[in-house]
Amino acid sequence: MVGKPLGLSKNAAIVGVLALQGDFREHIAVLRSLGADALPIRRPEELAEVAGLVIPGGESSVMDKMSRAFGLAAPLKAAIASGMPVYGTCAGLIMIADRVLDAIAGQQSLGGLDISVRRNAFGSQLDSFETDLDILELGAPPMHAVFIRAPIVEEVGPGVRAIATLSDGRVVAVEQGNLIGTSFHPEMTGDTRFHQYFLDRVSAR
Ligand code: GLN
Repeated sequence: MVGKPLGLSKNAAIVGVLALQGDFREHIAVLRSLGADALPIRRPEELAEVAGLVIPGGESSVMDKMSRAFGLAAPLKAAIASGMPVYGTCAGLIMIADRVLDAIAGQQSLGGLDISVRRNAFGSQLDSFETDLDILELGAPPMHAVFIRAPIVEEVGPGVRAIATLSDGRVVAVEQGNLIGTSFHPEMTGDTRFHQYFLDRVSAR
């Protein structure tokens, strides 16, 4: 039979998931289910091996401290500056934002996305919620989105595209060049379209 060699799917790229803290295991599982070779990243040498990176949800202030303590912050910034595709979810979105509102004292981000993002933007009344989002880039059906102590994108620079908004217009997903960010957690719902969207960026590069 003529066909593609077994094991060489279109997602065969080696990608990383920042594994300092947060729900990195869930992202690795989703990426592997799509055929990608997904590795946990904790050290600069490991980052050098991958063609794209997911930064998971968790706690951005802790992820920030650990990335600096482990010598990963500078190589991560360099990877972002080089155009490596990076997908940040929730705390990961905060990590790749240029400006963080309601950060803890001394908290830094890696930056790259020309946005202002507000941490824990839904307050204590509404820590977590779920809703369906229409996302043109992903097509039908709407994506079921889970928000957990989620950030909101409050300002976007001229080069940034808002790709999903809540019904009140607040921005919850953005992209700029090879950087993609969502306030919510697609790794928790079984909908793999955002991870595929990220992998398409990796293979296009
Ligand atoms: N509130 C967290 C933070 O500030 C993000 C929550 C999440 O990733 N689910 O980093």
